[in-house]
Amino acid sequence: MEQENQSVLDKVRAAQECVWINPDREDIDQARKSLELTMADIDDAERRLQRFAPFIEKKFPETAPRGGLIESELVEIPRMRERINEKYGSGLKGRLLLKKDSHLAIAGSVKARGGIYEVLKHTEDLAFADGILKPGDSCAKLADEECRRHFQQYTIQVGSTGNLGMSIGIMSAAIGYHTVVHMSADAREWKKRLLREHGVTVLEYPSDYSEAVKRGREQSDRDPKSYFVDDENSRTLFLGYAVAAKRLIGQLKDINVEVNEDHPLFVYIPCGVGGAPGGITFGLRQVFGDAVHCFFAEPTQAPCLLIGMATGKNHDISVQDLGLSGRTDADGLAVGRPSGFVGETVKTLMSGDFTVEDRHLYDYMRDLLDTENIFLEPSACACFQGPVMLHRLAERYLSRYHLEEKAENAVHIAWATGGSLVPPEEREKYRKTYR
Ligand SMILES: *Cc1c(COP(=O)(O)O)cnc(C)c1O
Repeated sequence: MEQENQSVLDKVRAAQECVWINPDREDIDQARKSLELTMADIDDAERRLQRFAPFIEKKFPETAPRGGLIESELVEIPRMRERINEKYGSGLKGRLLLKKDSHLAIAGSVKARGGIYEVLKHTEDLAFADGILKPGDSCAKLADEECRRHFQQYTIQVGSTGNLGMSIGIMSAAIGYHTVVHMSADAREWKKRLLREHGVTVLEYPSDYSEAVKRGREQSDRDPKSYFVDDENSRTLFLGYAVAAKRLIGQLKDINVEVNEDHPLFVYIPCGVGGAPGGITFGLRQVFGDAVHCFFAEPTQAPCLLIGMATGKNHDISVQDLGLSGRTDADGLAVGRPSGFVGETVKTLMSGDFTVEDRHLYDYMRDLLDTENIFLEPSACACFQGPVMLHRLAERYLSRYHLEEKAENAVHIAWATGGSLVPPEEREKYRKTYR
């Protein structure tokens, strides 16, 4: 395995597309023994989101069709499957589905899961501590003007490459908090503009994500009424993502998809600091056990989680240490150093990690638009590197788990992590990039 990690790291240094296969993946029964969080924690998060549904429905009427739950569609994309097999010779078998977190209400990205959940949990804690809510009260009360004014004395701060800031910023502003988002250099102008329109204070740094987080934390720590959402270490954020797995059970049933030993489920999730793919993977392994195979996808210039795993150094190594720039058009994935907490947690759960060049993100973006008429932002398009490359790069994995003979029964989910809020003029620019 040492040798395997070594040869992958050579490719990573050369910024070549590759896959890292996790030598430490364990059976779920074994893995559970060393996990800090459990299914009960996910259940707790799910119930909290249920409690907040009446509040969310009131504040964000677009969530009314789902009764105030923020959830996305799972759709089959057969024309995209045909396209990748024809164009890239992928040889993908089984069905290809798209999980449209790109179209989640409020924030238009996967961050509507973790980010919003953390703001709600903090709000519930404060509301009980301050006597605004009493046991048995409906959270709908928090939509009252009086509650809104109460929360104006508090601040919420977060460091972000863009999307986390949008989910935290929009929800915090809706509750009444003063909100400060510390943006890294990668953040897109339109994301900053949209936040300012919501009354959020946006501070910009010429540096990368880790630095924006550091500065935000320092500023927040100086103010006793300020709460810092720590994307790198937050268990709360992580559990918000994990709830997606429970909701997926019903969605798969609705389209007659079985998941078991003979019907494997493959999931491909774009990865930045690791929270979103990590939380979703944690949830999926709890729910589907060993029948689910979770792969992450990262840009060739910013594969921070991959290098943390393959070197065993986790949070103690950055992509710059390997001579990579950390610069990528995939702003949501532009992270140089992974979360130490996530790395520890997913070490025995994840299957592997694909890297992808920026120009391929734009190709996949156009492929999906042409075939299925669905738009995703460049970061989200990393989810297609798995289905495109699985049979070409990850044969070792498939044979290790005897998955080749089950390939026809397999279901593949490309986890689309963002895009619905991208303005039309930005979409036009993306469509012409690397053309
Ligand atoms: C943030 C983000 C991710 C990855 O989430 P992490 O928690 O940073 O790993 C993936 N895609 C998009 C579009 C994102 O905004």
